[in-house]
Amino acid sequence: MCGIVGYIGQKDAYPILIKGLQRLEYRGYDSAGIALINGDTRTYKTKGKVSDLENYCEGKNISGSIGMGHTRWATHGEPNDVNAHPHVSMNGHFVVIHNGIIENYGRLKSRLKTRGYNFKSETDTEVLANLIEYIYLKGKVSADVAVRLALTKVVGAFGILVACKSENNKLVAARKGSPLVIGVGRGEYFFASDASPIIEYTDSVIYLNDNDMAVVTKDSLQLMTINNDKLEPKIQKLNLDIGEIEKGGYDHFMLKEIFEQARSINDTFRGRVSFDKQSLHLGGLYNVTDKLVAAKRIIIIGCGTSWHAGLVGEYLFEELARIPVEVEYASEFRYRNPVIYKDDVVIAISQSGETADTLAAIKLAKENGATVLGICNVVGSSIPRETDGGVYTHAGPEIGVASTKAFTAQVTVLTMMAVILGEKRKTISQEKYLKLIEDLTLIPDKIDKILSYNEMFKHISEKHKDSENFLYLGRGFQFPVALEGALKLKEISYIHAEGYPAAEMKHGPIALIDENMPVVVIATHDKSYEKIVSNIQEVKARKGIVIAIVTEGDTVLKDIADYTLEIPEVSEELAPLLTVVPLQMLSYYIAVLRGCNVDQPRNLAKSVTVE
Ligand code: GLU
Repeated sequence: MCGIVGYIGQKDAYPILIKGLQRLEYRGYDSAGIALINGDTRTYKTKGKVSDLENYCEGKNISGSIGMGHTRWATHGEPNDVNAHPHVSMNGHFVVIHNGIIENYGRLKSRLKTRGYNFKSETDTEVLANLIEYIYLKGKVSADVAVRLALTKVVGAFGILVACKSENNKLVAARKGSPLVIGVGRGEYFFASDASPIIEYTDSVIYLNDNDMAVVTKDSLQLMTINNDKLEPKIQKLNLDIGEIEKGGYDHFMLKEIFEQARSINDTFRGRVSFDKQSLHLGGLYNVTDKLVAAKRIIIIGCGTSWHAGLVGEYLFEELARIPVEVEYASEFRYRNPVIYKDDVVIAISQSGETADTLAAIKLAKENGATVLGICNVVGSSIPRETDGGVYTHAGPEIGVASTKAFTAQVTVLTMMAVILGEKRKTISQEKYLKLIEDLTLIPDKIDKILSYNEMFKHISEKHKDSENFLYLGRGFQFPVALEGALKLKEISYIHAEGYPAAEMKHGPIALIDENMPVVVIATHDKSYEKIVSNIQEVKARKGIVIAIVTEGDTVLKDIADYTLEIPEVSEELAPLLTVVPLQMLSYYIAVLRGCNVDQPRNLAKSVTVE
């Protein structure tokens, strides 16, 4: 995963690199480093966060108007000073930062060893640095040709920036499978894994495609493929506001993003829900609507929270549009030799649009002739460029590693798709169609209402922050929400948590219930309400602590549960958009009270661009 940033121009590179790395830190934060070029080349790197790197650089020579920075999420070799990027080739000719995995690094490394190369780090990246140098010295070629030839020998994924000591007026950038965007300024260029480090300097950007390579000086940019075909750079306008990527007075990005959900869902609606609230349109589906309407089956693929959104999608498409749905982990799907038919529609869900496993699953689905759609947040990312159509969630940048507003935006899009399909396939009545649209537009205000119960979330979190385990239960539409609630808690507070369909509890997890076990049960008014009340009784009979998410005005559960958290009345199909909010808030406060780093939980990174 990791974040890459680079600069070439007339300004001091150091502040631009550090600020860029801070913005990219969500992508990886186990170690960080920079290289600065000013005639000579200096490399500083350290285990820890970008702030540790800043401390490390204090008092050192940080001059240079060319530079590169990296914040790492280790794949090969533990996070330490030596494995941190940049990596310098053995004879000091090249400096490399890299996002991704060189899969054949073992073979390349042995070959380089037989040719006299030795290695300081355990990383795959150092192998690439040495391979470039070996080709450069042996073939007596220019730096960019050496990079290009080296990349033809590499199997795997990379977003790289390379500098050469003896050609120190240029940077070489290349990508395959890991994102890289170039900002175009006047007499300067910026490089980054996403556009956030670039926006205050320029709104003109070039997104590199797979196998693209750019050779850049401060006043020139040449674009080509790794196979040396010349390309015309396509400059695009960036549509991102700086306020969107700052904390705006909140203690954490996660909290800001939870509170932003009313706004972000309204942004998801924009231009799609008609003013008179009588119809829905999703422009990105126009070319594929017929295929969707006729689909015999929908396969939804995703990872983590996106997979949970996909499960909500399954309930929605089956209930409203009567299309059978399978939801697959992208990583399992791609390696399982799945049965895919030409009339299948595959929907890939990914916040970043860069998730490596999801991208690979898309390729497999396309090879098998299926129609592939994307639901992504980051505009211009890889998945939307690989698919036949799709819908952007437009939730705005999500920086907190634990996904919140991206989930509700994904579920909003899936709901809109299911409602449109239900209407077109005549599987819902016109009355129901209009009612669901009306209800959808009321969701943002209802989320704000739930968030006004802040003190209650804090209170429950205080009481149960020291629990070692949590169980989350839900039925029907609420089962995926139970999974998502458990995931939120474990990823940021490191408490073990499991989500279960409430009725399955009796087949195993009930054995865990005792007076120390908080059980979060989503028990809103829907067709399984009575059943779930019985499940709650079963928990109480074993002295479990019940935190129930209920519909406003529920008096039955007030008497049975230890705590009730209310959500406003809503149609069953839309309830996941509300019930997930109290679960996000509980996990947030529990993590804060346990002293955890909410925005950057250990071992995780935001955008999983490695398999
Ligand atoms: N494979 C490289 C390493 O382990 C880069 C990992 C990344 O993309 O964060 O250092």
